[in-house]
Amino acid sequence: MPEAIHLSATTFQQLTLSWFAQHGRKHLPWQQGKTAYRVWVSEVMLQQTQVATVIPYFERFMARFPTVSDLASAPEDEVLHLWTGLGYYARARNLHKAAKTVVRNFSAEMPDNATDLESLPGIGRSTAAAIASSVFGHAEAILDGNVKRVLSRFFALQEWPGTTESQKQLWHWAEQLTPTEQVADYNQAMMDLGAMVCTRSKPKCGDCPLSDHCLALASDQVSLLPKSKPKKDKPIKHTLMLMLQLADGRILLEKRPASGIWGGLYSFKEFAQAEALSDHCRLHYQTDQLDYWPTFRHTFSHYHLEITPVLAKLDAAPTELQESDDIWFNPALLDAGEQSIGLAAPVKKLLTQLTNNL
Ligand code: SF4
Repeated sequence: MPEAIHLSATTFQQLTLSWFAQHGRKHLPWQQGKTAYRVWVSEVMLQQTQVATVIPYFERFMARFPTVSDLASAPEDEVLHLWTGLGYYARARNLHKAAKTVVRNFSAEMPDNATDLESLPGIGRSTAAAIASSVFGHAEAILDGNVKRVLSRFFALQEWPGTTESQKQLWHWAEQLTPTEQVADYNQAMMDLGAMVCTRSKPKCGDCPLSDHCLALASDQVSLLPKSKPKKDKPIKHTLMLMLQLADGRILLEKRPASGIWGGLYSFKEFAQAEALSDHCRLHYQTDQLDYWPTFRHTFSHYHLEITPVLAKLDAAPTELQESDDIWFNPALLDAGEQSIGLAAPVKKLLTQLTNNL
């Protein structure tokens, strides 16, 4: 530990653990009836997502897939459907893939050590360590977003935590500080500290057990740390979405390829150019009655997507669907809560607008 801090790892652990005993979260759904499978699903859902948002998704997911074998044998569409709204769908696809691997390679038993856990799709070093420590009590250090923030501030890290150098440094601190006993409580304490006290904005340093030793606080840099990623303007991409609607209200949806954005979810047919869209409609549906809706923006982590929805109404369904994965979807199922396919957020929004227009 840097000399300036004058705090031993043991004292750091004691301060954190006694704060946890009083204030830590011990009643989250995945902390009850703890199994590697439940902790794993929760850890994956919690990546990039707040606890309050995750809880109902977690409970629905567990009710439908109570064991890793249930998840492995489910159709991907159903897994993605239960994920609709949580975003970052690669997480759901990897979860599904990993469940199949567990059934195939580990006799349907979740591995009990970080190395085997990390070999599964979508499980990185920190998630593997979180499962191994929380469920099996192994002395493994974790470094999720919350822990990164606490350590970046506590040690006043002067670089963006995403660089290779910062990652190395942060892992080093995390390993030095992680105890060999009570590691499950300690790791949970660090995550809770980040989520409840050392929050992204307006951290509650007055309530923090580490405040007497925190370098960011001592040097008045709390609001400046962790350093943000050096800014690059996000590129803007454009797409036209064709909303083909029959007189009875049903809409044509197609299944997206498994990889790439919204992989495996259902969406409208997309076109890069208005001309291509109108040619397509003329050729396949013999219509040039196109209603252009206002363009709106959907932002991904690495680019903005400007979406122009285009509505075309057909009197009757074409005799054949163009692709075998195309479906005529009844948007009324959205309201009835009966939709059983995964939908990207902007597609769901447009389907709702179409239902309201009926
Ligand atoms: S004192 Fe403030 S900035 Fe430092 S670790 Fe605690 S909450 Fe975070």
